[in-house]
Amino acid sequence: MKQRDLSWLVKNTEPQASKMVQQLMAHGIQHTELLQLMGDIPRHQFVESAFSHLAYSATPLPIGKNQTISQPLTVARMTQWLLSYARLGRVLEVGTGSGYQTCILAHFFNKVHTIERQESLYLKAKQRLAEMQVNNVEYLFADGQQGWSTDIPMDAVIITAMASKIPLALTSCLKEQGILIMPIDHPTPQIGCWRKEGDRWKCLGTQPAHFVPLLEGLEHA
Ligand code: SAH
Repeated sequence: MKQRDLSWLVKNTEPQASKMVQQLMAHGIQHTELLQLMGDIPRHQFVESAFSHLAYSATPLPIGKNQTISQPLTVARMTQWLLSYARLGRVLEVGTGSGYQTCILAHFFNKVHTIERQESLYLKAKQRLAEMQVNNVEYLFADGQQGWSTDIPMDAVIITAMASKIPLALTSCLKEQGILIMPIDHPTPQIGCWRKEGDRWKCLGTQPAHFVPLLEGLEHA
């Protein structure tokens, strides 16, 4: 990574987005293309309009239905892990929410499969990303703990809501050597990155983090 690439990036993004990018860099995010993408995506369009002035701040924000978009650093760390370890073929995301993380995944992966259990969030995210011409995403309104409905093996699974244990159906969607990223509240709230190695999980990293809980069943609009 060349320093002059990053100064170009900081100069050419919107002031609030540029400040966010600088904070991400100060916290160890080094992936130039990821920083550039996060500087370019209009994050204010993904949060409830009353909070759009805070969209680039280092805080989670409401997206409706008592759910939140993760703060930028959390999204960046999860994505940086994926970019370091996963083959960028197919990724399964559980917890579409606003579609912000989905939009980032769609830039790097050939295909994104994303599941949301709140019908209104599912519908809004689908429409938002279609308007942004993000076309390599398949959306599912379902309980993500059941996994994806077809048996396509995934290169990576990313869960954006906190569970107490790894849902089995999701791990069986993963290819051998696939990457799993998920927040888990045991023994303390943290986000972890693991590689599937036979019936074992090799931990590649953890970070303390707080997320909304992974819930069961569906909620209709
Ligand atoms: N990645 C999202 C963050 C959303 S917060 C974003 O960038 O905005 C977590 C999301 O997970 C919420 O939208 C919540 O409704 C959803 N969720 C929780 N449990 C789920 C489940 N079992 N299946 C699918 N989605 C779930």
